[in-house]
Amino acid sequence: MIDFHMLAVQPVLGLTPYQPGKPIEELARELGLEPAKIVKLASNENPLGPPPKALEAIRRALPETARYPDGSGFSLKHKLARKLGVQPQQITLGNGSNDVLDLIARVFLGPGRGAVFSEHAFAVYPIATQAVGAGARVAPAHDGSRGPRYGHDLGAMLDQVSGDTTVAFIANPNNPTGTYVTRKQLEDFLTALPERVIAVVDEAYSEYVERDDYPDALAWLDRFPNLIVTRTFSKAYGLAGLRVGYAVSHPQVAELLNRVRQPFNVNHLALAAAEAALDDEAHLRKTCRTNREGLMQLEAAFQRLGLDYIPSIGNFITVDVGREAVPVFDALLRQGVIVRPVANYGLPNHLRVSVGTAAENDAFITALERVLG
Ligand SMILES: *Cc1c(COP(=O)(O)O)cnc(C)c1O
Repeated sequence: MIDFHMLAVQPVLGLTPYQPGKPIEELARELGLEPAKIVKLASNENPLGPPPKALEAIRRALPETARYPDGSGFSLKHKLARKLGVQPQQITLGNGSNDVLDLIARVFLGPGRGAVFSEHAFAVYPIATQAVGAGARVAPAHDGSRGPRYGHDLGAMLDQVSGDTTVAFIANPNNPTGTYVTRKQLEDFLTALPERVIAVVDEAYSEYVERDDYPDALAWLDRFPNLIVTRTFSKAYGLAGLRVGYAVSHPQVAELLNRVRQPFNVNHLALAAAEAALDDEAHLRKTCRTNREGLMQLEAAFQRLGLDYIPSIGNFITVDVGREAVPVFDALLRQGVIVRPVANYGLPNHLRVSVGTAAENDAFITALERVLG
């Protein structure tokens, strides 16, 4: 028989697939438990569920499902543009912001080109980079002396920019570390970055952030035309299962991304739900409050248990369990709690825990205490 590896293009042979959080149904099957008994804090999803207004919009949109969606996303783009204070031509919609990151890689990366990102940065950057045959340069993260430990060191990232660099990926805040770069740090970085390098500022968690020194990168799009800001409806907006995200950029960049975009990359229900989600401010406020309280609850528990954690401004927190984390992860699974090991991010003793409802956080803390003995 043919070895199909011989047929695959070279970049694909070196790829390792993204490891998603373990689905509830899968663990329920393995443990012979009711899915409702399982606590999943593994994929930074909204523990309150989708916005009620989005659910209503989905119900209204269902009868039109036999038709192709609006491939231009006209209505959602216009609504987003108004909300964000940009032009609709600056927006690119994606099947999740992951899709947008892939579009960016296809347009601006490729063989002979390179991307720069930080150690411990979101796992999709190396995958998107390698998938198109581009090289990756990884900057060491802060060691704790000049910035938050494990956080992006933008100075070190600048040092990695070389003649073939065409894209720099910055997650703000970063997943899985929950760390962020400040307005001043990002502004200095963008000022120093050559204009020929596309700066992708991934703001998947921006709606959760409550820090005065967190930058509003969108406000810099005119000043730095090489800037792309990406956001998503998967996290605070509670629509991870529908897959909608977007980029905001210079219109010419958006036009280029549009050339490689699948014509109907965002589905009909997702378009309707995302638009309605933008109107559900009550749900967003409640989401952020639940998250703020949940973070405090988890931090207090880690302090009580004497566990180090990485201070987070996202909807997750990464904790050092003081030993190899995979066995702890496995033991938590047997307690019906799904979290995320992050050894693949260079953090072998850490677990990433999404912030759940107070009851879910409690269940996790109780299980963790039991497991750690
Ligand atoms: C979750 C996440 C995304 C994207 O999620 P989508 O569901 O594809 O929109 C992007 N960046 C970071 C840092 C994330 O954690």
